[in-house]
Amino acid sequence: MNAFPSNMTAASIEACRRADQPPLTPGSLRVLVMMQEMKVGQDEHYVAFLDLLASHIWEAGDATEILAQVEGIIREARAPKAPCTVHAWCVETDEHFGHYSECIEAPSPDQFGNPVLPAGLTDFRGTTTVGLLDLDLTPAEARVRIAELRTHLDNVEALVTAAEASAG
Ligand SMILES: [Zn+2]
Repeated sequence: MNAFPSNMTAASIEACRRADQPPLTPGSLRVLVMMQEMKVGQDEHYVAFLDLLASHIWEAGDATEILAQVEGIIREARAPKAPCTVHAWCVETDEHFGHYSECIEAPSPDQFGNPVLPAGLTDFRGTTTVGLLDLDLTPAEARVRIAELRTHLDNVEALVTAAEASAG
């Protein structure tokens, strides 16, 4: 990375140019001075972003194309995303091949903070599978497992009832 002088003038910045770097256009010098000023009081991530941008400008010698690319990336990021046209439950947007639903889990994590019974839908090859108990299940298979889990919760509740009966 090129070291900037503390008094940021176009001439002093140009003096920092390494021999293997192309000459900077006058517009690029102004951009580099401006970017240096923009760093004041900003957090480290923004400063790192500006430094990265500046290093590309130093290598290119011209800021026009670099700034156009950044503008394109920002415009793309802000553009509304097209929702999935295959599945209403899919959270992926624009063009995509694997379809994923939101992953849901029981409201209570376990003692170690791990999710309990995470579940979600996927479709990679035109077949929707239910992700449950670390398995990829058909909807019919998932219903069987869910019935088993309901029965299990009834049994857990029966234990609680037994505990209440013997309390004291
Ligand atoms: Zn999709």
